[in-house]
Amino acid sequence: MLEGIQSDAQLTSWLAQGQALFLFLHVLGVACFAYIVARRLVPLIRAESDLRFDRPLARLGKVLKFWLGQWKHPRYKTAGTLHILIFAGFILLAVRAFTVLIVGVSPNFVMPGLSGKTGHLYEVATDYAATVVFLCMVFAIVRRVLFKPARYEVPAKFGKANKADAIFLLVLIAILMVADSLFEAAKAAGQAQQGHVGFAAALSLPWFLKVSLVSMSLPTLGKLYFSGYLLHELTFYFLLCYRPFGIQFHVETSLFNIYFSKLDRGKLKPVKWGVNDEHIDQVKSFGVKTFEDFTWKHMLDFYSCADCGRCSDNCPANAVGRPLSPRFISIKARDYAFQHYPVFGRSNNSQPLIGSIYSDDEIWSCTTCGACEEECPLLVEYIDKIVDLRRGMVDDGAVPQSLQKPLKALNSRGNPYGKMEKKKADWANAREFQQICQVKTLDKKNGADTLYFVDSITSFDDRMQSIGRATAKILDHIGENFGILGAAEKDSGHDVRRFGEETLFMALRHHNTDAIRASGVTRIVTADPHAYNALKHDYKDLPPVEHISQVIARGVKSGRIEFRPVESSKDVYTYHDPCYLGRHNRIFDDPRDVLDAIPGLKRVEMVRSRDRSFCCGGGGLMLFYEPKEEQRIGVKRVQMAAEAGANVIVTACPFCMVNIEDAIKVAGFEGKMTAIDLAELVDQQIARAGTVAAKEAAEIPQECVAGR
Ligand code: SF4
Ligand code: SF4
Repeated sequence: MLEGIQSDAQLTSWLAQGQALFLFLHVLGVACFAYIVARRLVPLIRAESDLRFDRPLARLGKVLKFWLGQWKHPRYKTAGTLHILIFAGFILLAVRAFTVLIVGVSPNFVMPGLSGKTGHLYEVATDYAATVVFLCMVFAIVRRVLFKPARYEVPAKFGKANKADAIFLLVLIAILMVADSLFEAAKAAGQAQQGHVGFAAALSLPWFLKVSLVSMSLPTLGKLYFSGYLLHELTFYFLLCYRPFGIQFHVETSLFNIYFSKLDRGKLKPVKWGVNDEHIDQVKSFGVKTFEDFTWKHMLDFYSCADCGRCSDNCPANAVGRPLSPRFISIKARDYAFQHYPVFGRSNNSQPLIGSIYSDDEIWSCTTCGACEEECPLLVEYIDKIVDLRRGMVDDGAVPQSLQKPLKALNSRGNPYGKMEKKKADWANAREFQQICQVKTLDKKNGADTLYFVDSITSFDDRMQSIGRATAKILDHIGENFGILGAAEKDSGHDVRRFGEETLFMALRHHNTDAIRASGVTRIVTADPHAYNALKHDYKDLPPVEHISQVIARGVKSGRIEFRPVESSKDVYTYHDPCYLGRHNRIFDDPRDVLDAIPGLKRVEMVRSRDRSFCCGGGGLMLFYEPKEEQRIGVKRVQMAAEAGANVIVTACPFCMVNIEDAIKVAGFEGKMTAIDLAELVDQQIARAGTVAAKEAAEIPQECVAGR
């Protein structure tokens, strides 16, 4: 036996003794894994379809960025760095793991391309990779046990903590690294004893083991060599087969989940993939009611969630104690899948999800702000699933009481306030305002290049009409030939759709599309990010649409808009990114560029800004919904503005204005803090020819309330 470690070829004789055992382990391990994965695929095969096989290059780009590049991980510095190190280690060790597996049945095997110098360099890299992964596991275990980051906690209302499972998996990976290193170190120690170069990269885990083993007898080293290999095999296959039973399944599914992730930001999934709008009446049941109503991709999301808690950590609904935590939308569905589609036994999908794993309040609590999706490193989707669950509830007539009235009004009047259509343009037709700014109502005789799409809240809410008038005056100032649809404009339907009322949305879209096309305009401008998102993503074949902040930013750059300095140098401004302008449509810079162009304006950023902006509490029909919560979302937001040292919150969305102005009062900041829309601020600060015009501009919003 002593000779057995005198050369590489002879070394392998130790392994050769176990060849039959290793072959058996390989076959058993692969067969078990294949069976388990096949069983895990059962619900995906029965699920609804999802068209995710298009645009392979774009999908590959996502894999390179988000999977291989780990793009989102650094958003959480400690956990992100740990994950990147572990991931890089796994990628490096992947080839070695396969080599080691094959060596068990073919002892002289060398992976093609990894002999000679390249092989030696690769050995150095893998020695360090195993060390880094091992240390990361130790660190992660200590962090989970001693420091317990708050976002890993599981509130009793959402289920049981799976800390023990998480730690068990970390321990298994640490064992795998030790086993691999032991195998390597025993070989190197044996070679060193025989006067050969027994290599282990300096200060790596195999090196430390080699140093401590080198004085052992050769037979003992041989046994350790064999044991290291056997332990590696057993741990490897145990891990492989255990992972599909818990959160570590994401190791296998994440690449596919990212490849098939959503490519079109801001868009909602159709009611059924493959059924176009003309045939929607043929759909017998809308939305998700039971598990198999989810699409296969949404089920893959459930399997891929790593339970890292980042989505919930950023969810405004979760932050104020609403009964929603996106992480548990995934975890509860995954638990349901494991329970109802077991690896052994019969599958069953009988239970309705609402009332069993989800509550209706939980599903109505979402503002569709997108913070969860923005944060998730595995690109798990939530908005489409939540909207699909709402579609299912709406289809069953389970609409919250507070939403029934606005939905009825939208059906009959085309706006959630139940106001008469003919009053839609009152804000623009007020006599005093007409003297300052003429706003055309487009019809067969009155055409224009640009449509200002106003939408319901700006048309009918007394306070928000000021945003409408400011927008009109800005368009007028830059010489835009524009008009409005007036009574012919109905609600854009943006939030009706996100509340699951697809057929009502389709009726609104149909009406508005006809009216817009008949107006003959070549472009659309709106000051409402919800209308912007709807016209851009939910409607089809319309002229290009822009938000007013983009128009203003262009006007500032071209010199058509110039500003006079702010009156008070004491005011500190902060910009609140509306979700449907920023996160969903990536318009972050234009509003900030505009603010920075106003002389003397001091601007600070809130900690949560740009793609990490914190929702104001939700727009559209969310204004009518009365959620169960400990605190208003808007109150949290104005507290963030105060912490940043701001006393003026600028936003660019009428819904944000409602929530923020209300929150300023509730939070006790009245008199100390104000909110203003970007269009209002721009209108107020535009340097118009002559001081009289400037004075008028500053006074109009308070005086010209439609209908007075
Ligand atoms: S979309 Fe916003 S409110 Fe809804 S679950 Fe995600 S983070 Fe929470
Ligand atoms: S959905 Fe994404 S962010 Fe949320 S817990 Fe799962 S992996 Fe983490």
